[in-house]
Amino acid sequence: MNTYVGRFAPTPSGPLHPGSLTAAVISWLDARTRQGRWHLRIDDIDRPREVAGAADDILRTLDAFGLGWDGPVVRQSQTTPAYEEALRALEARGSVFPCACSRQQVADAGIAGWEGPVYPGTCRRGLPPGRGARTVRLRIEQRYWTISDGGLGALCLDLQRLGGDFVVRRADGLFAYQLATVVDDNALGVTDVVRGIDLLGSVPRQLHLYQALGQLAPSYLHHPVVIAGNRLKLAKSSGAHPVDRRHGAAVLARVLSAIGIPGVDTGFAATGPSAIDALLKHARSHWRPELLPTRPIPAADLDRPG
Ligand SMILES: [Zn+2]
Repeated sequence: MNTYVGRFAPTPSGPLHPGSLTAAVISWLDARTRQGRWHLRIDDIDRPREVAGAADDILRTLDAFGLGWDGPVVRQSQTTPAYEEALRALEARGSVFPCACSRQQVADAGIAGWEGPVYPGTCRRGLPPGRGARTVRLRIEQRYWTISDGGLGALCLDLQRLGGDFVVRRADGLFAYQLATVVDDNALGVTDVVRGIDLLGSVPRQLHLYQALGQLAPSYLHHPVVIAGNRLKLAKSSGAHPVDRRHGAAVLARVLSAIGIPGVDTGFAATGPSAIDALLKHARSHWRPELLPTRPIPAADLDRPG
């Protein structure tokens, strides 16, 4: 019996662009070649960042590219009670503490980490006199985490240098990405998380949460991200344009070639669902994580010629 359960979890802050489409293709291929289930979750917990109509547009794009998902679409905004329950469990276990510090106060402490300022531990033993709680943080009880990534192999990450005690409930009352992701992946029974390497630093945080919640952590595969001309990750804010659904087969051919699928004709001229199906069938028979490039994928490689 196969037990692989994967997922794709886009944020509805805009339409899929070539970078997010590439992530979807990799995640879908890994699930389908292992006869697994592939769920679609709209990570819309951060309502202020949501763009009206973006979630529906993402669904239409996945559909146009033949990337079918299993079961109903899950929306994070509808699972808030589960986050509250998880937070109560962490509180009961003494794994979290209220924190009065603002971002600026954490930065002013001057401890530089890999992903920005490191929390100096100010409120670990109680709130400073006369100050109220702004956020809730998870107490780091294990500093070093060795992970086995499906693409990168064995890695040891230092959670202290990654930022130390991290926020699980934000000052605006929203649940933080780390907690929401762990609760939602666990609820879906996700066994394999496939996502961009920019999220590698989340792994020890999420492993810590799984451990604190007494749940089994999934396996991880981190893939290269698509970068814009400025060498930063392709994003709407860096000028990424939406994926061109009208030329789906040509776009898909270039994505497949960029992620290492051999024998793809990137001058692909055929259009329509049957051309897409043929490409995906070819990709499913060739996909292996070892084929992924070791460098970021330039967005220019994914643009349709002419
Ligand atoms: Zn604090």
